[in-house]
Amino acid sequence: MFDKVEAFYRPASVREALRLLHTGNGKARVVAGGTDVAVEADPSIRFLIDITQAGLDYIRRKGNVCTIGATTTMAALEASPVIRGLAGGILAQAAAACGSVQIRNMATLGGNLSNGSPAADAATVLLALEAEIVVAHQRGRKASSLAALYSPLRQGLLHEALIVEVAIPIPARGGRWSFHKLGRTEVDISLVNVAAGLQLDSRNRVKWVRIALGAVANSPIRAVNAETLAAGRTFDEILIEDICDEVAREVTPITDVRASAEYRRTMCRVLTKRALQECAARTGCSL
Ligand SMILES: Cc1cc2nc3c(=O)[nH]c(=O)nc-3n(C[C@H](O)[C@H](O)[C@H](O)COP(=O)(O)OP(=O)(O)OC[C@H]3O[C@@H](n4cnc5c(N)ncnc54)[C@H](O)[C@@H]3O)c2cc1C
Repeated sequence: MFDKVEAFYRPASVREALRLLHTGNGKARVVAGGTDVAVEADPSIRFLIDITQAGLDYIRRKGNVCTIGATTTMAALEASPVIRGLAGGILAQAAAACGSVQIRNMATLGGNLSNGSPAADAATVLLALEAEIVVAHQRGRKASSLAALYSPLRQGLLHEALIVEVAIPIPARGGRWSFHKLGRTEVDISLVNVAAGLQLDSRNRVKWVRIALGAVANSPIRAVNAETLAAGRTFDEILIEDICDEVAREVTPITDVRASAEYRRTMCRVLTKRALQECAARTGCSL
């Protein structure tokens, strides 16, 4: 599989991993859980740099921020009381929906964000939660929004660099959250996934709403037009339909072996509606 690989390194620090990446001269590849790297088996790789011993396996809550090290596995996220207690547990839910138990025991959060897949389940949730990523270069560390990682203008953000941490601002009290995934089977990647958050005021008007979707564009996206349209309006069935119409306009799905673009667009509506109804039910709002 990796018959051209000349060396396998397991650095004990981020600094050493970055040095190895730099000296690899474009032929080195970071590997964390390896669930994507092993499938891809890129024949141009000469050096593999395993970052799982580099001190990036942790989940911490400090004040109003929850920080997660990049090599934290999906299984660890799924089991963590901190992650289960954050935003209705939607990140734990997305982690639990990531492939089979064998995949979840290996797959890391950093790998899920770095592989560039539009169907990455954790990425959709983290976009809705407005998470930041911390990227380490040889020159130092820099925090940026997760959305920036997916911006076409920021391509190359991970050149000779590592995602070392994900920082999630603890959401304001009163918000309710929901995550929905549709796959061909229990263990398949998403055909569509949706993460939503909603807070209503005492008169059932939308204080804020966040809607993120995966597998329906080049990268996971926020449905910003739908969010804007909803702000301040009374939360009822009419508004849900308006939001779903706008979401269907915002997405740009493709046809592939798993589903047609048309089916995906329809499922965006269905999953968004379910997610919003679930958020509303959790606030005690009866529609
Ligand atoms: C059978 C199967 C089912 C799957 N099902 C799902 C699913 O349901 N949902 C889902 O979201 N994904 C799924 N995946 C995809 C994959 O398992 C996940 O995206 C996983 O989180 C990748 O993490 P990893 O640690 O294994 O990444 P790796 O394979 O180790 O790395 C992936 C890429 O990211 C780079 N990388 C890794 N860590 C870092 C870092 N910290 N900084 C910079 N670059 C880094 C690597 O160089 C590589 O290019 C599935 C994969 C398989 C094989």
